Amino acid sequence: EAKAAGRNTFRFFDPAMQAALDASASLETDLRAALAQRELLLYYQPVVDADGCMTGAEALLRWQHPRRGLVAPGEFIAQAEKAGLIGEIGDWVLETACQQLVAWSGDAATCHLTVAVNVSARQFRQPAFAERVLQIIARSGANAHLLKLELTESMLLADVEDVIGKMSLLKSRGVSFSLDDFGTGYSSLSYLKRLPIDQLKIDRSFVHDMLHTPHASTIVRSIVTLAHSMGLQVVAEGVESREQWDSLRQIGCGGLQGYLFGRAVPPQALLFGHQPLVAATQNHHLDLVDGHGNT
Ligand code: C2E
Ligand code: MG
Ligand code: MG
Ligand code: MG
Repeated sequence: EAKAAGRNTFRFFDPAMQAALDASASLETDLRAALAQRELLLYYQPVVDADGCMTGAEALLRWQHPRRGLVAPGEFIAQAEKAGLIGEIGDWVLETACQQLVAWSGDAATCHLTVAVNVSARQFRQPAFAERVLQIIARSGANAHLLKLELTESMLLADVEDVIGKMSLLKSRGVSFSLDDFGTGYSSLSYLKRLPIDQLKIDRSFVHDMLHTPHASTIVRSIVTLAHSMGLQVVAEGVESREQWDSLRQIGCGGLQGYLFGRAVPPQALLFGHQPLVAATQNHHLDLVDGHGNT
């Protein structure tokens, strides 16, 4: 009996569990401070066309933590959702992305660039989500046609009428929608038919495996075909090698994103211009497929 109680007591005071609780509580406290103290940063990763020329960027959140350094979103977004902070963080991300669009609008080299913003499930479920986005766009003066919102498949399963309502309102003002990590969630072709989606983003796990695993390359090919036959744009995520790029060009994938073309960086570190983002000297495979007939 004493043994059992001892075990319970031991479990209750499990130092590892306590440490995890402390860490999570301090993460939440730190997150609240981060918002107030402007420790959040928005990085941008280039999105390029089949030739490697930049057409836009995906905004990716970073947290410049005073002790932990630069923290990736995978380590704090879920916690922010649980703590009820995702609304505020999401507003900040949208506001900052819209301000970036406005900053780019004044220059011929950047005025065509789109910005894609990730939306979390809880953020999208807020009843006034669409109105909030429109307010932020209006306040910033950004061109709504250059703003893309990235949703994930699981978010679309909730209340389809509600989802359609929000998307339709935003689309009527020019905002477009992208389905992120496509192929990893509950892909349902009937949702694709009913929802006003503009773009599919092929999850990087398929791109990662496509050169070595026949099924992965078949899936990539099928998603591209599906997208095209439904009139949707398609972007491949996680392109890291020339070989993947070549293969995706052959398949006809119109949009590409990945370390090959550039990591997420602060906006002032992005390189603009109408040249491909991969240096010409590295284009030793470009003669395989070239949309302009140049070899
Ligand atoms: P995501 O939207 O699928 O973003 C792509 C992630 O893949 C980014 O990680 C990016 O840095 C990484 N990535 C891009 N190219 C490559 C590549 O070639 N190879 C590899 N291995 N990785 C690549 P990151 O920035 O850590 O973001 C992770 C996730 O966090 C995002 O996945 C997105 O779901 C979420 N997230 C990022 N920013 C925000 C935000 O502002 N709000 C919300 N709600 N979620 C965000
Ligand atoms: Mg994304
Ligand atoms: Mg993604
Ligand atoms: Mg992904």
